[in-house]
Amino acid sequence: MNRLARLRVEDIQAWIGEVHLLDRKGQTPYYIPVLNRVNPDVFALQIHCLEGEILSWGDETVTFPLMSVIKPFLLLYLLNHLGEDAVFRRVGKQASSYPFNSLTQLQEDSGFPRNPLINSGAITLADLLGGETPESRCENLLLWLNKMGNCQLFLDRSVLESVHSYPNVHNQALSLELEKNGYISHRYLALETYNRICCLSGKIADLANLGKLILAAPFSEIILEIMTNCGLYEASEKFAIEVGFPTKSGVSGALLSILSDEGVIACYSPLLNEQGNSVLGLDLLTKLSNFFKEI
Ligand code: GLN
Repeated sequence: MNRLARLRVEDIQAWIGEVHLLDRKGQTPYYIPVLNRVNPDVFALQIHCLEGEILSWGDETVTFPLMSVIKPFLLLYLLNHLGEDAVFRRVGKQASSYPFNSLTQLQEDSGFPRNPLINSGAITLADLLGGETPESRCENLLLWLNKMGNCQLFLDRSVLESVHSYPNVHNQALSLELEKNGYISHRYLALETYNRICCLSGKIADLANLGKLILAAPFSEIILEIMTNCGLYEASEKFAIEVGFPTKSGVSGALLSILSDEGVIACYSPLLNEQGNSVLGLDLLTKLSNFFKEI
């Protein structure tokens, strides 16, 4: 049974009304000024059923950077190009109970990044991308995703400039630790590649199309398992128990859930909770899962 196909437009409309009426809580990231200044009311939601139906609410034209939502796609690209052994020699598949940029977690693990969806893991995987420079590495990933996912992602240079304007000491410390322990070979190249790929941007339909790329991929099972266990950082376990959708978040407020054999839910709403996950997006997914429990 495809539960997404049984959703009624009126139900979703009512949930959106409810979550919009809630007191505005949450914050935008202080360390990326353009994201910090973004209009907190902007909202977009698309649900794509595998059978082809598309439901859409909010602003279909607004573009936003994927930020950490790029991480499962970096993983997908590398699994496709290098295979499982090469990838999982460099990163684990274990959940983390620390924030996404935690150095403590990395040090407790003797420098081995415990999964590809936290910053240490994604910086490590960025070191494996083919290409001589951060520009060409990012371009390789971008072209492949646009071709395979039928989307129109682009590098948002204003976001990249903003990322560069604020020294991200956490990511710098992670890169140094990874290089010291031999998990990456060129820390500047890896970190700058990571910064760029986080700035790949698109519209809500691009995000949903990307989700369908994972659904169709030979490695979808393993990626969905990692998204379930690690996709919302330290909030992953609670969400997996309460909601159970494999989901990935980014500090832009992007949120992507991928439901095997059913379809994808893509949401964009910039206000974040303390773990860096979209408040409104998580509220909507919770309402959706409660609805699924009833049908
Ligand atoms: N580029 C951001 C960072 O490294 C991405 C983090 C995120 O989206 N959680 O802080």
